Amino acid sequence: MPLVPGRVCGGCTVCCSELHIEAAELKKLAGVRCPNLDGGGLCAIYATRPGTCRDFECGWKLTATLSDAWRPDRSGIVLIPKTKGNPPGFQEGTGVQIVLLRREALGFPELPGAVAAWVRTRVPLFLTLKAPVGLLAASAFLNTLVEGAVRRQDRAALIQVLEEMVEGLSRRKLEPATFGSAPR
Ligand code: SF4
Ligand code: SF4
Repeated sequence: MPLVPGRVCGGCTVCCSELHIEAAELKKLAGVRCPNLDGGGLCAIYATRPGTCRDFECGWKLTATLSDAWRPDRSGIVLIPKTKGNPPGFQEGTGVQIVLLRREALGFPELPGAVAAWVRTRVPLFLTLKAPVGLLAASAFLNTLVEGAVRRQDRAALIQVLEEMVEGLSRRKLEPATFGSAPR
């Protein structure tokens, strides 16, 4: 998928901390700041960074309809393109994992409208709440739960479902994250 022209990471380094990376050159759990990230927010091994880093672009850099406020370090939400594991009836390669880096990010005002637009266009969505380091983040399929609210254009109901989902995710018993456990 092409990058949105002119959209750059700038001061954001979220993916260098929040992604689980499991490459020959670098293994780190989600939530652990990469040791290669220097004090200025730059990658000290940029030219030779692992393929995982080279290939990753978050959804904000790929989606022209999202405003600059969606930059993950500002919104508290990182959108991870999901290339497999979509439920039946949804096209493979089109999914989005909506990762809340903190619970309060659910209050980001542009989130409900984006969720509604994606649900209408059959983009499979998974809501994920960041987990403490060492645990696998809980995640849940979103579309079926909000379809009614989206159809009725009921923003309040949509927000309520999202809040209930986050509450449910926050109560889940989390499995330990280990290398080889492939959290996404
Ligand atoms: S999360 Fe997105 S904007 Fe932030 S550093 Fe990673 S790719 Fe760049
Ligand atoms: S190796 Fe570089 S690009 Fe990859 S996570 Fe670390 S700092 Fe970021």
